[in-house]
Amino acid sequence: MSLKYVSTRNKNDVRTASLAILQGLAPDGGLYVPTEIPALDKSMKELSEMSYQEIAYNVMKLFFTDFTEEELRHCVNSAYDSKFDTPLICPLVKTDMAYYLELFHGKTIAFKDMALSILPYLMTTSARKNNIKNDIVILTATSGDTGKAALAGFADVPGTKIIVFYPKDGVSEIQKMQMVTQKGDNTFVVGINGNFDEAQTGVKRMFNDKELNDTLSKGGYQFSSANSINIGRLIPQVAYYVASYARLLANKEIEDGEKINVTVPTGNFGNILAAYYAKQMGTPIDKLICASNMNNVLTDFFRTGVYNRKRDFHLTMSPSMDILISSNLERLIYHIEGDSAEKTVMLMNELKDDGEYEIKPEDLRASVPEFYGDFASEDETADEIRTVYNDCGYVIDTHTAVASRVCRKYKDKTGDKTKTVIASTASPYKFTRSVMKAIGCDDPSLSDIDLTDKLSAVAKTDIPDAIKEIKNAEIRHKTICEVNEMQNTVLKFLGL
Ligand SMILES: *Cc1c(COP(=O)(O)O)cnc(C)c1O
Repeated sequence: MSLKYVSTRNKNDVRTASLAILQGLAPDGGLYVPTEIPALDKSMKELSEMSYQEIAYNVMKLFFTDFTEEELRHCVNSAYDSKFDTPLICPLVKTDMAYYLELFHGKTIAFKDMALSILPYLMTTSARKNNIKNDIVILTATSGDTGKAALAGFADVPGTKIIVFYPKDGVSEIQKMQMVTQKGDNTFVVGINGNFDEAQTGVKRMFNDKELNDTLSKGGYQFSSANSINIGRLIPQVAYYVASYARLLANKEIEDGEKINVTVPTGNFGNILAAYYAKQMGTPIDKLICASNMNNVLTDFFRTGVYNRKRDFHLTMSPSMDILISSNLERLIYHIEGDSAEKTVMLMNELKDDGEYEIKPEDLRASVPEFYGDFASEDETADEIRTVYNDCGYVIDTHTAVASRVCRKYKDKTGDKTKTVIASTASPYKFTRSVMKAIGCDDPSLSDIDLTDKLSAVAKTDIPDAIKEIKNAEIRHKTICEVNEMQNTVLKFLGL
């Protein structure tokens, strides 16, 4: 039986990979999950001799079972090319404490590029395979990084339009500049008067609005998603965890079979879920350390089994993690509940109606003992940037710093000496102000963009092209709307 996808809320909604990618979010509001997690069919030794592209192909072919080899290789090779500023695609940087897996060498200097540089190819291939004639409208809510990475991936891709909603006051200056200067006739960017959770809820509501979907269909359009609720976003992320293990082995940093820990700065729970899938496939991973900022709803969940979003929302220096409703957790919940759609529906309804749900702590420990949750305060995050810089001259961004501090605290507390990979999710150049403040080199008279010259001198790294590009770019997107106007804004863009 070949692997297919089912909705976490309805196991009768069974789809091929390509149809699950096109659909994005299931019509019942659920997320598509693979019917099984396939085992790697190559040994780590074999994988350690492969290029990133080769590893990515060998991971994705096991999940995207209705793609031909030619189709999938085309997607992989078109995505992971010279758009990345290093042939390694995601290099590992070793310090005394950990290996930082730099996932920010793509076009928009955040880890979202790892999946969003391939998603447009997966999407257009899926449309072709299924004889879809409609134009695909990618609706995206962003906490800052997904938006730009999706815009860059889909700009001027024939047969697609992309509409991005970002929280007007909830992203960094550079994140905002990156989005509002985006070129491409098929791109639309909107700031909302609200936070990321409101943007995401608004987008999900549109996906599930039957009337709206009918209107689109009559106009020759259909929605899909570039958020990590799309399985086409999630699976490409599994590849880099497999690849990082293979690389550690190739570099003789670990013995074959030696377990490693992975620490991930978490928001919507996509990145760490990919690490979990990598483990399920057979990558020797022990602990999965889920790092949060002050919006530490996941820390509490892994400690107590209670997921409670009724709490103050904090704007932090790691804005891409300012999230209280972590969508992808639904996929893990489905698994914890023994792949039960009924139980998942029940819990998700509780979250919607009461703002919380509970999994018995003993069930949590029994089914996913590898997860460990902790968080870093704003002071700890800044202190971590300073500490890593002072110790090694290495400058990390604010999100990576959250993970780095949580990893440090975990090691101190448990004495666990297992070698650890930290997902380094953004370039420090994307969060220049907070990073420079942390290492005591801020200059309030300079704009965030101009401050990058100083960062370059301090970090002894080149300013990435992504920053150079926005220095003199024209602002092309000025739309701002209220949360309740999102749907009308979409209809207006599409001329419906
Ligand atoms: C999106 C993002 C995160 C959170 O990743 P999730 O997959 O949503 O958990 C962390 N750091 C950065 C820089 C991001 O852009």
